Amino acid sequence: MSSSDDEGGEEYLFKIVIIGDSAVGKSNLLSRYARNEFNLHSKATIGVEFQTQVMDIDGKEVKAQIWDTAGQERFRAVTSAYYRGAVGALIVYDISRRSTFDSVGRWLDELKTHSDTTVAMMLVGNKCDLENIRDVTVEEGTSLAEAEGLFFMETSALDSTNVKRAFEIVIREIYNNVS
Ligand code: GDP
Ligand code: MG
Repeated sequence: MSSSDDEGGEEYLFKIVIIGDSAVGKSNLLSRYARNEFNLHSKATIGVEFQTQVMDIDGKEVKAQIWDTAGQERFRAVTSAYYRGAVGALIVYDISRRSTFDSVGRWLDELKTHSDTTVAMMLVGNKCDLENIRDVTVEEGTSLAEAEGLFFMETSALDSTNVKRAFEIVIREIYNNVS
């Protein structure tokens, strides 16, 4: 273990929010990342407010407090308290459902309205295991991300593809923004 704490080393706590339409897989991305769990029949309202993951960057302890909605996105009623203090965000759509990709712009607007600081943002095309019913191409995701200045990754909370990577890229980018 690092002795940096004893020497007064820095510690970091970053709030990260996950946003996107209902049923795109937000809660499962978080449970896959934080607990390596996936639920085929997850209920929109189940879930805690946030999960904390600890990472080591440059020998410093970085805590990511990752927030999940409690299903209020179904009513377009994500509150400003949810966004308050966020320095990172995953904007998630479902690659098998185009309407969720079409909503990304609205989520970005809402995020920008509520943030007063630099936010590290990752566009996430989830459910990439559903290649046979793909409705949004990789290229479309890439170009939207480029146009909006976001990182981009396709993930699968089901088979774990890129889940850890997506969160860690955001956490590292936040760290770069503040250090
Ligand atoms: P949320 O409303 O955005 O939090 O979405 P959930 O995490 O509750 O997931 C909605 C549904 O999609 C559930 O039935 C999940 O099992 C399913 N799901 C989530 N992620 C994936 C994925 O990567 N692949 C597939 N095939 N299904 C997924
Ligand atoms: Mg959910």
